[in-house]
Amino acid sequence: MSRLMNTYSRQPIAFTHGEGVWLWDKDGNKYLDALAGVAVNGLGHAHPEMVKALSAQAVKLIHTSNIYHINEQEALADKLAEISGMDKMFFCNSGCEANEAAIKLARLYAHNKGIANPEIIVMEHAFHGRTMATLSATGNRKAQAGFEPLVSGFIRVPYDDVDAVKQIASRKNNVVAILVEPVQGEGGVHIPADMAEYLQGLRKICDDNGWLLMLDEVQSGIGRTGTWFAFQHTGIVPDVMTLAKGLGSGVPIGACVAKGAAAEVFTPGKHGSTFGGNSLASAAGLATLNVIADEKLRENAQNMGDLICDHLRSALSAEAGVVVIRNAGLMIGIELDRPCTDLVKMALEDKLLINVTAEKVVRLLPPLIINQAEANELATRMAALIKTFLNK
Ligand SMILES: *Cc1c(COP(=O)(O)O)cnc(C)c1O
Repeated sequence: MSRLMNTYSRQPIAFTHGEGVWLWDKDGNKYLDALAGVAVNGLGHAHPEMVKALSAQAVKLIHTSNIYHINEQEALADKLAEISGMDKMFFCNSGCEANEAAIKLARLYAHNKGIANPEIIVMEHAFHGRTMATLSATGNRKAQAGFEPLVSGFIRVPYDDVDAVKQIASRKNNVVAILVEPVQGEGGVHIPADMAEYLQGLRKICDDNGWLLMLDEVQSGIGRTGTWFAFQHTGIVPDVMTLAKGLGSGVPIGACVAKGAAAEVFTPGKHGSTFGGNSLASAAGLATLNVIADEKLRENAQNMGDLICDHLRSALSAEAGVVVIRNAGLMIGIELDRPCTDLVKMALEDKLLINVTAEKVVRLLPPLIINQAEANELATRMAALIKTFLNK
């Protein structure tokens, strides 16, 4: 009997160690990791610089408390400000917590302006986490079912639809913010038809109405789409951005990052976290950002993502069952015309780790350190699996 609550339908495998894009099980089988712990292990496994930074920090100090100043946290905040153009950060331990902080920030911002019953615009098919507020903001009825009453104060509109947001602006005066993923990950790797136009459109509505533009970059951030943050493809800057997954290379850390007036909303007693941004997690974050800069991994994410998709498109061009292959850097979605969760098991048998989301979309999120040979091997093996699956 497993002593673990039944929250996951786990694959029948456990890994003992890893190196780069590779993982091994106890029998010595070697797996190509094209999921990277769901966009967490951007530097792959056992990156020497991460090992060095974590070991050095563990010897000195792991945790004190946010009751005191934390040097590593301040260094990480400086670095994040430098690469994002944002002003101030709040550190927590996960993506849902980062979004909780953003939601609380927006509500406090509204109350400070005299809006007693503020609402936040969120999107269909969005994913923002599993806590009560972030689950309520998530656009997936299946994930919400059974957990009612949900948290109120969210208005849902279709994704990639500026006009739908405009209509709400014209008829409501208690909206305070838009919370949106620049690329929807869990929702099926949905990329706006024109990301720049979409985010610029939302930015303008926010500016015209005094709303906060809050970007959930928990999955799309930290180099994954070819820039530090996906919004950097678009020429706009958000008021709030949330981060987690890739930030600590596997050491839990999240951040709610804000600019301008939004950066000044929280005051002592309004929010907090016991573990958030402790010395070890912050050292992991700082090492991650330094390696991504030093090894030019943003460029690599763009190049390898495009290479994998070009390779897949030519290998699968004759397959009518492939609807579309899309990517933003190394956020890759292969949409099929039928449910394809079986592919996860087939890939596992082939010693390839992948994911299927929104039932019909194969999602690949390989480490940012993937090289050309590995990228080609991934595409070759993935294309063969899809062909087998479609012609079964
Ligand atoms: C994974 C994810 C979250 C939730 O992060 P957790 O660390 O699991 O709480 C929130 N938003 C997006 C876009 C995500 O991909």
